[in-house]
Order: sequence, then C-alpha cells, then structure tokens
Amino acid sequence: GDSIDEECDYLFKAVLIGDSGVGKSNLLSRFSKDEFRLDSKPTIGVEFAYRNIKVADKLVKAQIWDTAGQERFRAITSSYYRGALGAILVYDISARQSFENVRNWLRELREFGNSDMVIVLVGNKSDLSQSRQVEEEEGKSLAEAEGLCFMETSALENVNVEQVFLDMVYKIHEITR
Ligand code: GDP
Ligand code: MG
Repeated sequence: GDSIDEECDYLFKAVLIGDSGVGKSNLLSRFSKDEFRLDSKPTIGVEFAYRNIKVADKLVKAQIWDTAGQERFRAITSSYYRGALGAILVYDISARQSFENVRNWLRELREFGNSDMVIVLVGNKSDLSQSRQVEEEEGKSLAEAEGLCFMETSALENVNVEQVFLDMVYKIHEITR
C-alpha cells in the first residue's frame, strides 16, 4: 500500500510549482494514481501524494506537494518549500506566458528553497503540438543556462511523466547518499 507508515529507507519531499493551469495536479495524479482529469478544479490548501520508488536496494517514499490553487494568489509560503529536496517547475508549451514566468518561479525557488535542490524544468502538454508556443529547444537552453534537468511531458497522453519523477528521485538519491 501507499500508507505513510509503510517501511521505507528514505522520505524525500519534492514540490510542484509553476503557473496555474499548466498541468501540475494532473502530472501528480498521473504519477501517483495513473489518473487524468479534463475538468480538474483547483482545490484550496496544500495537497500531497506519495509513491514508493525502489532505488538501488533502497525503498524511497517520494512525497510530492502540490500548490493546489494557491499559485494564483502568490500565497505559497516558505513552509511549502521547507525540507524539499526536489522541485518540478512546470510550464505549458501552448502558453507562452507560463514559460516567461519560469524565471520568476526560479527566483522564488532560490529564495525559499534548499540551495542544492534538484530542479526539473518540465514543458507539459506536449500533445498540443498544433498550438505550441514554446519550442522544445527554448526549454532545453533555458534549463542548460540555469543548470536544471529538462523534459517535455504530456499528462494527458502519459508521456514522460513517470520519467520526470523517477529521474528527480534518482538524482536526489545520488546527492544525498
Ligand atoms: P494546475 O493548475 O497546474 O494544477 O493544472 P491542472 O492539472 O489542473 O490542469 C489544467 C488544465 O490543463 C486541465 O483542464 C487539464 O485537463 C489540462 N491538462 C493538464 N495536463 C495536460 C496535458 O498534458 N495535455 C493537455 N492537452 N491538457 C492538459
Ligand atoms: Mg492544481
């Protein structure tokens, strides 16, 4: 099961950030429950989900926090970031503004987050190729310039979602062991 008290060797906290509507909650539900919602509604308050991941011979419990609608009100506080070893910074490849705002999110991450946090930049909604406003190269070069990992995903079509979370957990494991 996925209960909090199940035996594990490590507990890693990671946070999801990025503009409202980019698909954070759907990435998380895809990863934690293999669910996708077309009509997802923002909930108020912090939500999180767990998933156990086998890394080498260890069992890691990944605790992923979701902003749950607060990104609209700039109400994310330092407690959201506290203790987080990883961050998944999401933009929407079909919404230019969400990509422009990545720098603001990075600034906030660097202000409130751990300095050696593993940060993955994610361009979500790669299935919307018809309405693409951000080229994959742009995401890649921003990530390179800022020292982040990078991947494009589709929560809808379940492309690269697992990979993003697993890569992050493996990287965290590498630097914390
Ligand atoms: P959040 O505000 O960042 O948590 O975004 P949500 O997960 O609530 O998603 C916002 C909207 O985008 C919803 O209507 C989702 O169905 C939709 N959405 C999320 N991920 C994808 C995706 O990969 N592809 C497409 N086409 N739509 C998506
Ligand atoms: Mg959400």
